[in-house]
Parts: sequence; structure tokens; C-alpha cells
Amino acid sequence: MSTRSEHQTVPLSVLLKRELASEKIEKPDIIHGQASQSKKGEDFTLLKTECQRVVGDGVSTYSVFGLFDGHNGSGAAIYSKENLLNNVLAAIPPELSRDEWVAALPRALVAGFVKTDIDFQEKARTSGTTVTFVIIEGWVVTVASVGDSRCILESAEGDIYHLSADHRLECNEEERDRITASGGEVGRLNTGGGAEIGPLRCWPGGLCLSRSIGDMDVGEFIVPVPYVKQVKLSAAGGRLIISSDGVWDALSAEMAFDCCRGMPADAAATQVVKEALHVKGLRDDTTCIVIDIQPPEKVPAAPLPPPKKQGKGVFKSMFRKKPSESSSHVDKEHSEPDVVEELFEEGSAMLAERLDAKYPICNVFKLFMCAVCQVEMKPGEGISIHAGSSNTRKLRPWDGPFLCSSCQEKKEAMEGRRGDGSRYSSGSD
Ligand SMILES: [Zn+2]
Repeated sequence: MSTRSEHQTVPLSVLLKRELASEKIEKPDIIHGQASQSKKGEDFTLLKTECQRVVGDGVSTYSVFGLFDGHNGSGAAIYSKENLLNNVLAAIPPELSRDEWVAALPRALVAGFVKTDIDFQEKARTSGTTVTFVIIEGWVVTVASVGDSRCILESAEGDIYHLSADHRLECNEEERDRITASGGEVGRLNTGGGAEIGPLRCWPGGLCLSRSIGDMDVGEFIVPVPYVKQVKLSAAGGRLIISSDGVWDALSAEMAFDCCRGMPADAAATQVVKEALHVKGLRDDTTCIVIDIQPPEKVPAAPLPPPKKQGKGVFKSMFRKKPSESSSHVDKEHSEPDVVEELFEEGSAMLAERLDAKYPICNVFKLFMCAVCQVEMKPGEGISIHAGSSNTRKLRPWDGPFLCSSCQEKKEAMEGRRGDGSRYSSGSD
């Protein structure tokens, strides 16, 4: 393969200079607000603006927002809030250009989620958490999620997009099939007299979710592998709402956007929580983060640029509704810059599908590191991520990416395989 020669090394300083010029024009303003009503005290948030890809350069900034809705205690939620971002960043090869960095995010998010899960499980036996994790770089929004918190987007053009998956067993047949095939049992709570009540749960444990971080006591088929979606907004921006299930049990996406339209982000977050409580009462922790991604000239403090508005960038019309909306579906036929562009979407629970090197540069930099935990390995020590795969294609020992032995063990456990590579079948124990 000629991947190495194709990727000419450009000094980082040159890349940054090239980017500097464009970023000044391109970077949106990120304005956020959050509100929360606590019932169990197990919702936690992470709000970080002004993170830097290149420390100290002052221009390569990005923002990170996370919502962690814990269950059976708050340990997993707190641990993920404190460690997940670092684990994701550790999985991004160094010295990438801005575009390469953005392209490397989906893979790094998978590695970071799995590493956080492994590390947490080594420390504690119980508690788990949903995670909705959002990274905003320029106009590109990348969302990784496990569990049933949600992130939704309304573009300035008025279309609504779902940027997270719903990993509730009740409404996700694919996940039910995956868990059953890995040795878990899915069913409702049996009251004893044969009557079954409540939502579908996974047994042992009785969790209603199919993916989470933590939950060691529930079973390895409750995996931390996130659904990842990456979209690029038009330069007119949009509004994101991230909320825990307390909000979504009460409000639809449309209701959430409608009830706070025109309000600044912090008032909007408060309004969404208020609206949810109005509909259902405080039955669960109810948390909302609202993030406005706006054209930079909308900053009140900044000097006004010459009027070069193209109609759609006007703030007051920013969240207007289109009369007919297609919603939750990216129309690929429209490629003009004023629509949301889908860059990446993948939800498979199989690590081999998620960590495969799609970007040549990852191989160049990370050949002898575990693709999940980033531990350094000697050549020949790593286990190919495709090992044990039923895939008929011939596996060569140098086919990466590679896992260290403990991450390989985790992979097998998640897929319901035992150390000998055989399928674990329920009922045989
Ligand atoms: Zn590892």
C-alpha cells in the first residue's frame, strides 16, 4: 500500500498557520446554559469551552459537553465525567491537522468510552451511567452516546436531527438481538404469578438499557461502545439540546425546541426542564443543556462587521420552523452549504468494526499501541482486533489495529465469547 508516501509530513507550525486564517472567519460562537432538577442526585454534566487541540496556541479551540445520568449510585457518572475526555484525547494521534483531528474523533471516542469502562470496573463493582458526549470543533458537531439520554439538533434552517441513539431495550430490537446472542436474557419483571410488568429489562441485573459505562454487576453484554454521529452545520448555526430521560419521557424533540424558541441558552435550558416537570412532575433527575452554535458576528461585544448577511444568518430568524420538514434524516441530494451535512454515523457494538483504521495516519503513529487503552506494546505482542472473527478473509499477523491482552479479554467478554473463543450460550451454565 502507498499510504505512507501519500501522507507527506507537513510541519505542524505550517499547518497551524494555514488554519489560522480560515478559523478566524469560520469559528462559530458557542453559548451554553444548563438547568437541572434533582430527584436522586445521579445526573452530572461536563461543560468545557475553550479546550485547545494545540496547547497554548490560543486558536485551535474546541468545546466539550457531557451529560452523565447515573443509576444504582453515582460512582460511574462521576468517574466518567472526570476521566472520559482524557481517555478520548489520549486515543487521538499527535500532530494532526484540524481536518485529520476531526476525522479521528469517532474512533477515539469509541476507544475512550471502552477504556473508561474498563478502568472504572476495576475500581468498583456497582453503578453505571448513560453518557451523551458532544465535541464541537468549528461547525462540526460530534456526538457519542450510550444509554437513553439524548442530543438533538435544530439547524438554523429549522430541521430537527437526532444525534444520539436510544439504547433502551424497550425500543431497540437490534440491541435486544445482540444481547440475546451474547448470552443475556431480555424480559419484563415477573411478579411471581406469571404477570409481567414494566419495560423490557436485561437479566441478570434488570437494567432497561443495552449500553452504558459501568454496570459490572449486570453483565458484559451491556457494552460501553457508543453510537457516534458527526455532522457539519451550515455557517448559520443551530441549537443543540442534551437532556436526560427525565425530559424525554415528557417531551418530544419538537416540543423541547418549541417551548424555548427565541430564548437565550440559559433561559432555554430552564424552560425545557420546567416544561418537562409541568407535563410529568419530578419523577426522575431531569437535566438539560442547551448549546447555541452561532455565527461569530452575533457577539454583542464584538465590533460590527460590514453587513454581508445572506438572509439566513439573521439571528431572529435563526430558529424559525420550515413549513414542511424532513427531520432526523440528512438529505444527501442537497449539498449546498446551508444544510446540515452528515460526516459520520456508526452504531455497531463490535469493536472490530469500530476501531478498524479508516485513516491511514492512525496506523503510522499507533502501530504498537493498544487501540483501546493506548498502552505501548512490543511488536508481535498485540492481538489483532480481527482475531477470532468469523470473517472468512485471511488474517495476517500484522493486520492491525491491535489490542493488549486485557483489552482483548474485554472485547471477547462483550461479544459473549469465552477465552477459548467459543460462543457463550445461555442456559449451558
Ligand atoms: Zn489495551
